[in-house]
Parts: sequence; C-alpha cells; structure tokens
Amino acid sequence: MEQTLVILKPSAIARGLMGEILSRIERKGLIVTGLKMMQLDENILKEHYAHLVDRPFFPSIVESMTATPVVVMCLEGVDVVAVFRKMVGVTNGRNAEPGTLRGDLCMSGQANIIHASDSVENAQIEIRRFFNPGEIFDYKPANASFLYSADEMKD
Ligand code: ADP
Repeated sequence: MEQTLVILKPSAIARGLMGEILSRIERKGLIVTGLKMMQLDENILKEHYAHLVDRPFFPSIVESMTATPVVVMCLEGVDVVAVFRKMVGVTNGRNAEPGTLRGDLCMSGQANIIHASDSVENAQIEIRRFFNPGEIFDYKPANASFLYSADEMKD
C-alpha cells in the first residue's frame, strides 16, 4: 500500500499536540506503520529541505526544527500521500482551511506543526532518510476490512 512520511515538528511537540494529531490520523483510517522520536540536526535538515537551503530563512528553519525532538511517522493507505497533504493544509497556518491540521491548530508559516511528503517518489526517499528498514512494520489492523471495499484494497 502507498506510504507517506510525516514529521510532528517541535511546534507540535512543545504545544502538546502529538495526541490530537495522532488521534486524527487514526480516526481517518490511516495505518501507522512506523513511529519514533528523534532529534534532528542541521545535516539532515539540509538534505530534507534541500529546496530551501539557499533561502535567507533557512537558519531559522534549522533553529525551529531542532528546538525539541520530533516524532517521525510512516503512514499507509490508498492514495495516502495526496489524502494526507489535504488533511495537513497549505503551508501557512493562517491561510490553511479550517478542518485541516494546520488550519485548526496553528497560526504560523514556519511553526506549522507538521511535515508531510509531497509526492509518492519523495515519500520513499524521505522514509529511507528517517527510518531504518526494520523500523517499518508490516501488519494488518483489526479493522482493515472495514476501512476499504475489497476492490479498493487490491490497489
Ligand atoms: P510544506 O511544508 O507545506 O511542504 P515547503 O516545502 O515550501 O512547505 O517548506 C518547508 C517548510 O519550510 C515549511 O513547512 C515551513 O516550516 C518552512 N518555510 C517555508 N517557507 C518559509 C518562509 N517563507 N519563511 C519561514 N519558513 C518557511
């Protein structure tokens, strides 16, 4: 099944939003197949945000993303990359639609609580960046047959 990589940023950890975000993920029917806490550093952020390294605000991204440990997750579901980006909302929390995680839970363009992969290809690269192979688990949740119809599950 399709996978995506999620980071609960220090702005979520420090504000006590881990449970709320995880609860919404579970209630949606996404399957958590990897989850751990880790401390990011400048090296991994230069890789992860390679498209922003030359921007003047990059040092501020490093400062905000290293302020506390983060929680990284691998989620699985049919079309999960697009589904979860929609759940996250646009980059700036002030512009994000109500109902989205950023729209409901944050007010910032930088301290925007969560990262989600933006394509299936990047999701695979990002999962390899943050997880060792043995840290992603292949299991079927007890409610699996109630999450999708049989033909949807074949995808
Ligand atoms: P997204 O996280 O929505 O995929 P981007 O990949 O464009 O957005 O940016 C990555 C992260 O960098 C954002 O989530 C945000 O924390 C930070 N960021 C982006 N643009 C800015 C900016 N103009 N000023 C400060 N931080 C920014």
